[in-house]
Amino acid sequence: MEEFIKGGAFLIESISPEKIFTPEEFSEEQRLIAQAATEFVTGEVQPVMEEIEAQKEGLLPSLVKKAGELGLLSGDIEEEYGGQGLDKVSALLLMEKLSQGGGSFMVAYAVHTGIGSLPIIFFGNKEQKRRYLPKIATGEMITAYALTEPEAGSDALNAKTIATLSPDGKYYILNGQKQFISNAGFADLFVTYAKVDGEKFTSFIVERNFEGVSLDEEENKMGMKGSSTRSVIFTDAKVPVENVLGEVGKGHIVAFNTLNIGRFKLGGGCLGSSKSALQDAVSYAKQRVQFGKPIAEFGLIKHKIAEMAIRTFTMESMVYRTAGMIDQILKRIDPHAEDVGMQMANGIEEYAIEDSINKVYSSEMLDFIVDEALQIHGGYGYIHDYAIERGYRDSRINRIWEGTNEINRLLIMDMLTKRAMKNRLPLLPVAQRLAGELLSLRPTVDSDDEALTLQKEMVEMAKKITLLAAGAAVQRYMMKLAEEQEILGWLSDMVIEIFAMESALLRAKKTMDRFGDERAEIQKAMVKVYVNDAFNRIENFAKQIFSAISEGDTLRTQLSALKKLTRFNPVNTVSLRRQIANHVIKVGRYPF
Ligand SMILES: Cc1cc2nc3c(=O)[nH]c(=O)nc-3n(C[C@H](O)[C@H](O)[C@H](O)COP(=O)(O)OP(=O)(O)OC[C@H]3O[C@@H](n4cnc5c(N)ncnc54)[C@H](O)[C@@H]3O)c2cc1C
Repeated sequence: MEEFIKGGAFLIESISPEKIFTPEEFSEEQRLIAQAATEFVTGEVQPVMEEIEAQKEGLLPSLVKKAGELGLLSGDIEEEYGGQGLDKVSALLLMEKLSQGGGSFMVAYAVHTGIGSLPIIFFGNKEQKRRYLPKIATGEMITAYALTEPEAGSDALNAKTIATLSPDGKYYILNGQKQFISNAGFADLFVTYAKVDGEKFTSFIVERNFEGVSLDEEENKMGMKGSSTRSVIFTDAKVPVENVLGEVGKGHIVAFNTLNIGRFKLGGGCLGSSKSALQDAVSYAKQRVQFGKPIAEFGLIKHKIAEMAIRTFTMESMVYRTAGMIDQILKRIDPHAEDVGMQMANGIEEYAIEDSINKVYSSEMLDFIVDEALQIHGGYGYIHDYAIERGYRDSRINRIWEGTNEINRLLIMDMLTKRAMKNRLPLLPVAQRLAGELLSLRPTVDSDDEALTLQKEMVEMAKKITLLAAGAAVQRYMMKLAEEQEILGWLSDMVIEIFAMESALLRAKKTMDRFGDERAEIQKAMVKVYVNDAFNRIENFAKQIFSAISEGDTLRTQLSALKKLTRFNPVNTVSLRRQIANHVIKVGRYPF
């Protein structure tokens, strides 16, 4: 059986382009799936966007059901239960394409096919799967995920909702409140959590029409206004014991594994929205004339267009690389195994670090992209009639849900540290070896070429710098490193940038190897700009870390080693960005 790439291994291994999946390799079937999703959004969702935003009664759930009739809801569900059992590249493609310009529909879709139903797919027993999955696959039952509580947001395990077994042993009686639950207004089923006897955190499947389940008013939100967000209240809610999901006291396993895949899919959603915003900005810039010419001809606007395209390309390279890795590991699972769902959750957990990276990166890049797209629209971007006004507001939530970006940054470092401690990932020996070689380490390439040799070297150096900084921080704080959040935040940013740079680089190299220089030209230009800029950011993070943790001779040695490791000539990003922007403007959209 083919070896899989370990989660987090990108930090210490040099991975060949052949080993990663890139969007250039979508199969014919995957392209058809993407086309069906795009046709659905453009034909069914976009024409009624205003009504969705006004929360027209019944509209959003009816669109979800329509998507179900077309088979767009059942990608992740096993065939045995009425689904299609698609690979994760296809599932991500569906998410991406259904997110194009349709923020509130995207929420309903993402929750229903993601965090609302995956807990049952992964952790449901056969009876639960038989009862619920076929109806979820068609949209006959719409799902929601109710984890957050008024006093338990980021600290989700601090739930106050309690579950007590009824005297006849047939029901759990739930009491408590869940806050900000997407899809709540029209969901038929909630995957939720309560502490059995006030202690054992447990997951439950709760149907909307179970006795004791009620909803509070709709929240008046900043964005995603068409989506439903309400509190779900359990007042002596009667939940049959058969509806415990997984084991009593093991709710955290359900919760955290669900969030892993939620974060993975969020990357696809942000990608779709980024491509829409870019296209919108480019078409506006081409037709808006100021000072006698289209604003697309101005250097500062080209800079923005190029940067939006570069970051979209990088995001796309990262999320599909991750999807490919997940598919690789899931291939090892026997689909007929008793515990197939649990095995899938475990397989996906292997890439929990990459999922958190993608979540943080794609939500922050989408915010950047919609902000620049709005800026290109000038004052019109601030006016409700223009789609980007909504896109700007809709984007913001992505940095908050599925674990805030602060929590995900901390998680990235926490997971890496734990895997290093358990020897799951040999980070410590590599960091120690590098520290020993500190004075002799230096780059061997310093000039740019068409084979991206310089960028490869810069990525390798970035890994070394990050491991050196992390190693120094561990040595300085030992077990107390978890309390040094600012340092962890910078380390996390360095890890994120490495995955970003490397994913874009490997993709461009693969395009070059498979299709030749001409087809790879714009991708190469993008990689050159991105690596140039990200490397500078990494250098800056490292400087700040060393300055915060060391002093005197130690600090001087660290900074002088850093200087050597970062001695690269900058590339001409002005001409590269112009080249990229001219191409994007010519094709009128994201170019790949
Ligand atoms: C529109 C919308 C839809 C939502 N949909 C759902 C849903 O369907 N299901 C669901 O269960 N939840 C949902 N949520 C809830 C969402 O997941 C939470 O809002 C989110 O997890 C953050 O929790 P909180 O709002 O309580 O913020 P808090 O946890 O109070 O955080 C406040 C700030 O403090 C920071 N912070 C917290 N802890 C730490 C720490 N240890 N270190 C450093 N910084 C920290 C956070 O990053 C944040 O910046 C939704 C929220 C909104 C707004």
